[in-house]
Amino acid sequence: MSTGIEEILTHPEFSKEDLVSLLSADDTGTRKIFETARAVKLQYIGNKVYFRGLIEFSNICSKNCYYCGIRSGNKKYKRYELSDEEVMEAAAFAYREKYASLVIQGGERSDKKFIDRIEYLLREISKMSEGRIHVTLSFGEQSPETYRRWFQAGAQRYLLRIEVSNPELYKKLHPSDKHHDYYKRLEALKSLRKEGYQVGSGVMIGLPFQTISDLADDLLFFRNYDIDMVGMGPYIEHDATPLYEYRDQLLSQSERFRLSLKMVAILRIMMKDINIAATTAMQTLDPQGREKALMVGANVMMPNLTPVKYREDYLLYENKPCINEEAEECKSCLEARIHIAGDTIGYDEWGDSKHYRKRTTDEGKK
Ligand code: SAM
Ligand code: SF4
Repeated sequence: MSTGIEEILTHPEFSKEDLVSLLSADDTGTRKIFETARAVKLQYIGNKVYFRGLIEFSNICSKNCYYCGIRSGNKKYKRYELSDEEVMEAAAFAYREKYASLVIQGGERSDKKFIDRIEYLLREISKMSEGRIHVTLSFGEQSPETYRRWFQAGAQRYLLRIEVSNPELYKKLHPSDKHHDYYKRLEALKSLRKEGYQVGSGVMIGLPFQTISDLADDLLFFRNYDIDMVGMGPYIEHDATPLYEYRDQLLSQSERFRLSLKMVAILRIMMKDINIAATTAMQTLDPQGREKALMVGANVMMPNLTPVKYREDYLLYENKPCINEEAEECKSCLEARIHIAGDTIGYDEWGDSKHYRKRTTDEGKK
């Protein structure tokens, strides 16, 4: 098996069949994939990890995805929205600590009050930091006009996971209505690119009904859509969601974690200069999950800056880690973890996706 893996790893571009073999590799083959991915990372983007301070802005969501703990149908959580002061305090912390980037994430809403408020906060963050903080937004599907307004107000990046690239599987994981339409999500991804964003996407790994062939298609999806950044991680069950019913059909948590690491490593080999996040969901299934992801190709981490009192209400899945850690503690814990992984931190650097720079600047087009 591993001899076959070594041969596949020499292919300049992986076919669907190659990807299925890589994702099915045994332990020896998997070690080779991980070694190759680490070498690709060091050669193409180096060993710097970039921080994006994460602000979980609000758990109010108009959608009802079957996997997500903060879906509108879950009445268990108190719904919250951070105040302007709380957002600006978190942004000031990031600025002071030289994180240079923020991710502002939350439930999907498209009411005018919400859209105006995000625009206002983006301008305030830009003013406070004299444009030195780059912002990634993640608020789901919005109209091209909203994306444009937020871009003009100072957001540079946007994270919109496709969740699964197979439209039939997408239907099984979402209610069948116009608010949960796979093709609308694809259009949103295209519109983000048109507006000039660094575009991020991602998937969940180890979902009920998902096959290895689906995951191979997910990797091809990122390549075909020429995505600049990817944030993907294991699916983790939540007892207050409809998918919980299928918990007995899932891979074990350690298998899901291993498969997620393989996805990160294979993606790094395929897309050498994109940004890949070491996600919190990885750490949920393995205490060293994020470091392991860094070792096999990830280069972005998202220290949580959400005020601790809200974290219990932003539980997308069970056993989410660090819900009691203040931003300061979270930072020192991450520094230690990154050094263990053999990487260094790119303080005061935006750490933009090299891939994005290449596709948008003359330097890259040469
Ligand atoms: N509402 C926006 C959206 O859906 O794009 C952004 C926030 S949403 C909470 C961020 C991501 O959380 C989703 O894209 C999804 O992949 C992930 N997520 C939700 N429930 C999850 C679960 N049970 N396990 C792992 N990831 C989950
Ligand atoms: Fe809302 Fe995003 Fe959760 Fe779906 S995944 S319910 S859109 S927060």
